[in-house]
Amino acid sequence: MLDAAEIAQKLAFLLIGHTGLSALARPLVGNVGVILMLHRVTARLGRPDGANRHLSITPQFLDALVREMKRLGYRFVSMDEAVLRLRTPGNGEPFAAVTADDAYRDNLLEALPVLEHHEVPIAIYVAPGLTSGVVDLWWEGLDELVGSTARLTVSMAGAEASFDCSTPAGRSAAFSRLSSYLTDEVAEADQRKVLDGWTRAAGVDVHAASAKLLMNWDEVRQIARHPLVTIGAHTVNHYNLKRLDPEAVLREMHRSRSLIEAELGKAPSHFAYPYGHSEAVGRRETLLAGEAGYVSAVTTRHGVLRPEHAGHLHALPRLSVNGRHQDLAAMRAMLSGATTVMANRGRRLVTV
Ligand SMILES: [Zn+2]
Repeated sequence: MLDAAEIAQKLAFLLIGHTGLSALARPLVGNVGVILMLHRVTARLGRPDGANRHLSITPQFLDALVREMKRLGYRFVSMDEAVLRLRTPGNGEPFAAVTADDAYRDNLLEALPVLEHHEVPIAIYVAPGLTSGVVDLWWEGLDELVGSTARLTVSMAGAEASFDCSTPAGRSAAFSRLSSYLTDEVAEADQRKVLDGWTRAAGVDVHAASAKLLMNWDEVRQIARHPLVTIGAHTVNHYNLKRLDPEAVLREMHRSRSLIEAELGKAPSHFAYPYGHSEAVGRRETLLAGEAGYVSAVTTRHGVLRPEHAGHLHALPRLSVNGRHQDLAAMRAMLSGATTVMANRGRRLVTV
């Protein structure tokens, strides 16, 4: 989930301001394709001013984006085909793979009809812990928690901490502090216990919030049967892999595949690292994903694909389609590859 690529959108707007649009219509030389990253696609966002706004785009914007990318000459392909095209030099036709993390229910109800209409494939990365309801979407629960009261008091590291949640700025600051406590200071395995304590005290049902937003296994089975859909793995527990020992990382990679295979009858061959930013995936994780047998693995690093990615199939960057900036001009700037260079200090080949 969490999208650390806000800066890329800001760069895109900056670039548009400086260069106009026409210069960005064609990809920079040497870029071969892109992997788009989605989370939620819905016209019925429960908390439009919430902390997770960036994770949600409308079906209308998805439709407009697909049309625009087709107009620019992109061929939409599955992740299998994207890997094949990276391995085999093509005819210069740029390709695009659409991916979505966490298996939100609206992927089935609101994204799939749009993709079907345009015959666009999608890879959905499933974390069995989330799908089974054993693990909750802590970022959604936390958003509910800060929105549930004007003043929130929680226990952090044995002391009481109090937050003014009466204004959007206050809620945003509280979300930011509490999420960094959960993701940086609490062990991965204790995250849910801590959040459970906070939410129970405030009368917020984080499990119900999660179950409402995510597909259950019947729905994952239903969407997996669709010829345009590839199911990938996203670990079991949605842990930050960099914070685990190597045995635990491999266990997450192997178990997520075997659990998905047991539910769907088909083992996933593509993988997405939870969080996917530089604090959550590095060289060690990319080597382990290869060792675990995955054909490809995607991060949330901001970048377009280059032919050299054939040698970095477990460190593939993506372009986040950000709900706060549903803007075709910004997407064109990102698709051109210009923001890849700007966001990565001059680097054109983005890995980890
Ligand atoms: Zn995720």
